[in-house]
Amino acid sequence: MEFKQGDWVRIEKDGTVYEGKVMPSMERYIAIKMKSGYNAGFSTDKVRITLMESNGETANGGKNGGKEHKNGDAELSKPGKKLPKVAILSTGGTIASKIDYRTGAVTSQFTADDILAAIPELKEIADFKGRVISSILSENMDSESWQNLARAVVEEIEAGADGVIVTHGTDTMMYTAAALSFMIETPVPIVLVGSQRSADRPSSDNAMNAICAACVSISDIAEVSVVMHGTTSDDFCEIHRGTKVRKMHTSCRNAFKSVNSLPIGVVDYNKREIKTFIDYTRRGVSSLKFKPGMEPKCALVKFTPGADPAILDCYLENGYRGLILEGTGLGHVSTKWIPFIQKATDAKIPVIVTSQCLNGRICDRVYDTGRDMLKAGAIEGEDTLPETALVKMMWVLGQTNEFDKAIEMLREDISGEITECTLK
Ligand code: ASP
Repeated sequence: MEFKQGDWVRIEKDGTVYEGKVMPSMERYIAIKMKSGYNAGFSTDKVRITLMESNGETANGGKNGGKEHKNGDAELSKPGKKLPKVAILSTGGTIASKIDYRTGAVTSQFTADDILAAIPELKEIADFKGRVISSILSENMDSESWQNLARAVVEEIEAGADGVIVTHGTDTMMYTAAALSFMIETPVPIVLVGSQRSADRPSSDNAMNAICAACVSISDIAEVSVVMHGTTSDDFCEIHRGTKVRKMHTSCRNAFKSVNSLPIGVVDYNKREIKTFIDYTRRGVSSLKFKPGMEPKCALVKFTPGADPAILDCYLENGYRGLILEGTGLGHVSTKWIPFIQKATDAKIPVIVTSQCLNGRICDRVYDTGRDMLKAGAIEGEDTLPETALVKMMWVLGQTNEFDKAIEMLREDISGEITECTLK
C-alpha cells in the first residue's frame, strides 16, 4: 500500500509500535514524525504499516477519530483565533536537510514550507509565512549572504511580521547571528535556529528547536538570538544572545553555549513557557534600523607558539583592512609579532586582540608583552568572542572609512558583545 505525505500511520517493528505522520520519504523507506516531535525512519520491507488516518478520512481502527492528529490545521481555522504573524526564512543547513540515498551524504533539500509541513505543531503557535533565501550549508555563507539575509529579514519586519525565524546551518550560525545583530536594530524578535541531526534521523533535534524558536519569535525578546537544545534531553532550549553565542560541540544536540554571559533565557519545551535570566531589549523599544555595510577583507588570525609573524604581512599585502588576533591567555602574542602589529596600525589597519581561552576578559596591562601590544596600537577586545570581534570589525569598516571613528566604534559595546562584568 502507498502512503502519502501527511497520512497518519502505525508502524510495528520487532514488537514495538510507532505512530506518526508520514514525512517526505524515499522509495522502500518511510519516515514519520511522531507526536513527541521525534522522527523515525524505517525500511518498508522490515515493518508492518497500518494507515490510521488519510487526509481527514479516518481508517477503521483509527483511535483519534480524525481529530487529534489532523495536521494542526484545525487549530488555525478556529474562528476568532488570531495568531501572531511570523516569517520563516530558510537558508539551508541540517535543519533543512535529509539524507540523499544516492550519495549517502546529508544535503539541504527542504524549504521553509517543507519545514512547516513537517512540524505541524508550529501552526498552533503563529501564522507562518515561508520564504527561501538559499539552500546552502552554512560553511558556504559569506558577508554577502549575511547582507542578503538581513535585507530579507528587514523586508519581512517592514511588511508587518511580529517575529522572524531564520533556519540556518549550525556550523557558522554564530557568525550570521552576530552579523544580523550589528546590521539590524529590531523592534521584534529575530531568531536563528538549526539542528545538529537531520529530520530523517530518529534523534533529530529539528522539531523541538523549531518549536522553541517559534515561542521566542512571538515573545517580547526583541533581539537577534540563537535558540537551540539546552541539554541532550528534550526538556528545554536555551535562548542565546546573537553576539555571545558559540557552537562548542561537533555533534551534541546542546552544542550551543553562551560565552561570557548567561543565556537570555530558556524555553520549556513541554509547557511552551519562557523564563529569562538577564536584561534584554523588549518588543517595540527599538525602531527598525538597517545598516548593511560590511567590509569582507578582514581576518581572524590565531597565534600559536613559534608562529611566523610574516603571516600578518600577507594580509597587509593582500589589501586586508582589519585584523583580529586570537591570542593566548589574557591576550598575548609573541614579542616577535609586535612590530607587525605596529606596521598594521601605522597603515591604519585596526587590530583587535581576543583570547583563545574564550572565557574571561582581555587584559593587556599585566605583562610586558601585553603593554607593548597596546603601545603598538592593538585594541583589547574585552570579553568579546573572537568570531564576534571579526564580524564587528567587518561591520564597523563597512560603516566608516575614518580610522579614528572605526577605533572608537570598535571600543564601544554596539550589540551586547562587550559586557561590563566578567562572568566567573
Ligand atoms: N554543515 C552544516 C551547516 O552548518 C551543519 C549543520 O547544519 O548543523 O550547514
